[in-house]
Amino acid sequence: MGTFNCIGVLTSGGDAPGMNAAIRAVTRAAISKGIRVKGIFRGYKGLVTNEISELYSDSVSNIIQRGGTILKTARCAEFMTPEGRQVAYDNMVKEGIEALVVIGGDGSLTGARIFAQEFNVPCIGLPGTIDNDLFGTDTTIGYDTALNTIVEAIDKIRDTATSHERLFFIEVMGRDAGFLALNGAIAGGAEAAIIPEYITEEDQLEEFIKRGFRKSKNSSIVLVAESKSKGGALDIVERMKKDFPGYDARVSILGHLQRGGSPTAHDRIIASRMGAAAVDALLEDQRNVMIGIVRDEIVYVPFTRAIKNDKQVKPELIDMLRQLCI
Ligand code: ADP
Repeated sequence: MGTFNCIGVLTSGGDAPGMNAAIRAVTRAAISKGIRVKGIFRGYKGLVTNEISELYSDSVSNIIQRGGTILKTARCAEFMTPEGRQVAYDNMVKEGIEALVVIGGDGSLTGARIFAQEFNVPCIGLPGTIDNDLFGTDTTIGYDTALNTIVEAIDKIRDTATSHERLFFIEVMGRDAGFLALNGAIAGGAEAAIIPEYITEEDQLEEFIKRGFRKSKNSSIVLVAESKSKGGALDIVERMKKDFPGYDARVSILGHLQRGGSPTAHDRIIASRMGAAAVDALLEDQRNVMIGIVRDEIVYVPFTRAIKNDKQVKPELIDMLRQLCI
């Protein structure tokens, strides 16, 4: 059994609803086991610039229902350098912080992995990202909330799509992972999803058009995952105008509203369970693992597996979407 007097917690990278619930759980689980907790502000930046303050039980009151993160989040270029990480480590030691809980996406967990190795610091990661792209957990903190936000938006856009008998391309987040686009399409009753894991965007568009859009319907909605290399939904509509003239196609880019809002019950529950599990993991001498939940059980996933392995969307869901939208 490991013993700790004081641990640090930070949120890093893109914010996600449920991060506050995770901060609350880490703080209260630690305090209930006699461990002090220090909150590090603005992700790794706060470690480098020493923006750190102690969290008490009442510091995390009334936040479980709030989106965003009370600790703020940032991207920190200094932490990408050995010199920056040395400053971060020195500050950590000065503050008496003996272990870190890092809540963030694959970039943040990559940083934690490197830091843990360099300075032999126990680091536990929590998957905090709306994209659901970390391997070894069924879902990530924030994904369910973002998905529900997308579905609400689809329902609203469908009203206007139906009234005007239009084709809408709705762009959602997830430049490397199509979970939000594919499952958003299924839950919103959309006609197709154009996602990064599946053949090229051009081919997916062509396939959708060839399936005979509008033969039996008076409107259509296609979800598009934002594109890493191209222009996303705007680019697709430009191409449509050129290659398939005659369609009244519109674009709606949901953007940052997908990150905000009060977390769903699901996200609050997994954030609470994962936050408490992070403290248990430290006490069990686990280090350099991400906490995941698989089939409703807490699991420990080595950082290298969580980050490096691509979590695959299920190809059968693409086929099922096709069957259900005839
Ligand atoms: P996310 O965690 O949402 O994927 P980023 O990829 O922007 O977000 O990463 C967040 C932060 O994590 C970066 O600004 C940086 O401080 C740290 N980080 C990311 N990759 C590395 C790396 N290879 N080495 C050290 N730190 C990293």
